[in-house]
Amino acid sequence: MNPGIIRGAVRPCGRLRSHPSNLIRVMPAKGGPKISATSTPTRASSRPHVIVIGGGVIGLSIGWRLAASGCRVDLYDKGPVGMGASHAAAGMLAAGVEAEPGEQPLLPLCRESQALWPGFAAELKAASGRPVGLRREGTLVVALTRDDVALLRTNYEFQRKLGLDLHWLNGAEAKEREPHLNPRAAAAVFSPADGQVDNRAVTAALVDAFVASGGTIHEGFAVDALELDGGRVRGVVVNGEVRRADMVVLAAGAWSRRIGGLPPELLPPVRPVKGQMLSLRMDPAAPLASHVIWAPKCYLVPRADGTLIVGATTEEKGWNADLTAGGVLALLEAAWRAIPGIEELPIAEMWTGFRPGSRDDAPVLGPVPGVDGLVLATGHHRNGILLTPVTADCVADFVLTGRIDPRIAGFGLDRFLKGREAAA
Ligand SMILES: Cc1cc2nc3c(=O)[nH]c(=O)nc-3n(C[C@H](O)[C@H](O)[C@H](O)COP(=O)(O)OP(=O)(O)OC[C@H]3O[C@@H](n4cnc5c(N)ncnc54)[C@H](O)[C@@H]3O)c2cc1C
Repeated sequence: MNPGIIRGAVRPCGRLRSHPSNLIRVMPAKGGPKISATSTPTRASSRPHVIVIGGGVIGLSIGWRLAASGCRVDLYDKGPVGMGASHAAAGMLAAGVEAEPGEQPLLPLCRESQALWPGFAAELKAASGRPVGLRREGTLVVALTRDDVALLRTNYEFQRKLGLDLHWLNGAEAKEREPHLNPRAAAAVFSPADGQVDNRAVTAALVDAFVASGGTIHEGFAVDALELDGGRVRGVVVNGEVRRADMVVLAAGAWSRRIGGLPPELLPPVRPVKGQMLSLRMDPAAPLASHVIWAPKCYLVPRADGTLIVGATTEEKGWNADLTAGGVLALLEAAWRAIPGIEELPIAEMWTGFRPGSRDDAPVLGPVPGVDGLVLATGHHRNGILLTPVTADCVADFVLTGRIDPRIAGFGLDRFLKGREAAA
């Protein structure tokens, strides 16, 4: 058994349809020493002992940064780590083509994180021995009908005004880049900066990097509540037992409001936003796509191993995790309209996941007013993979220094409390 991972009663997640195993095997970094949480020689006693709630990309990456800085870090997950939204995602790093009216404040954070990804991926590979499938061919947003072209033109003009590097292609130019596109493809926008990572590979690499840095993972241990005492967090309650720490990072994704102990107004306003997805199996030697492709009503994300991810529905259905005939049909039909050749491909997997959606679709990062020692890192909605590097750096920095990095200054819980204070 790996010294950095402790398993409790891991409950299999019913929403996963065909993942081969519910258990994650944690290996130390290749060639690296086996380091346990209690034997890390570099741990600085002046560093805080931190508990992280949630083992998705957000909790793991923050935990990794803190453990690597010499903190004692205990990460708790109610199930196997990395099987929440971080498992369900497509891994697009889509700061550009996802920029939408109303979300302009989020764009600088997304672009900053996108720029950090190549260095973050290299560092993660060095720490874990695992590549994370960073691909930088860029993204094509494809229009098939005249209506699609009109909508594409509107979005293109809006996004260009934001300073994004986007290129208008006619149908022939689009098909030159992606020869298997529907011959009727009328136009496309090419975004060179919008790439992808393999989010499942990222999670596995983060687990290894975290454990190799001395962090401890407690799988199958749900945190029931925060332990508070006089306006300060003292730890967490797990199975009726208090586990103490100097600081607690709440990174429980869509489940972040379910942790007890906080008054309701201080709970991050995060809800589950359901997404259904599926994957097809291409011949890796003759893939039907090499760019990430956004088509009307779906996107297609080709992995280097031949997997073609087709996503995703966006549904307000609470915690309902059903795969539905209508959802899968809509995705397959839209994908087939974009690339008719998918018709012959075998289906590899189908699944659903819960994006942690906040009230303004931006993450909730940083301290909780009036509760010392509690730090939020949640609400990343559809951009959590993209935002992992910047979140990890800024939240870990806050834990270590108490400084709120200017990059996340506008994303605190306080933005939701302002109206409430004024009304009081
Ligand atoms: C269908 C879909 C497609 C997506 N595509 C993309 C994409 O292309 N690009 C992108 O950037 N983002 C994408 N996202 C969004 C991205 O997946 C999320 O924003 C990101 O994974 C959030 O990470 P997280 O660590 O906060 O949450 P999660 O990965 O959900 O992790 C939260 C963890 O907390 C644990 N937990 C919950 N409650 C407790 C408790 N009480 N005690 C202990 N542990 C607990 C859970 O078990 C879970 O492991 C997509 C999401 C979905 C669903």
